[in-house]
Amino acid sequence: MGNSYAEEEDKTMKGLITVCPECGAKTELREITIEFERKGIRATMSGIPAMVCLNCGDQYIPGDISGDVIDIVSSAIDQLESLLRRAEARRRELLPRIAVTSPECLVLVLA
Ligand SMILES: [Zn+2]
Repeated sequence: MGNSYAEEEDKTMKGLITVCPECGAKTELREITIEFERKGIRATMSGIPAMVCLNCGDQYIPGDISGDVIDIVSSAIDQLESLLRRAEARRRELLPRIAVTSPECLVLVLA
């Protein structure tokens, strides 16, 4: 029971999808960017590790990482939502006086 590099590597690669379930080609560990839209707020997260199929491009994010990403994005957006709603209410009071309005509501994009 050593702590060799090979064992460590084996441990970190465990549970990763190395063969694409869609097309059977090999996957490679890459970093990907995902865009989210929730409650009218858009967010983008980059640097997410994922197994990417070299043939069809399908992406498989390890379950624990994907859970963390979803937790981060949803808690950030949930906290912003109430503030955004307050700002939207104030905006609506002024709306009739604004000559030209483009978006239907406030749009927040977190890059
Ligand atoms: Zn594939």
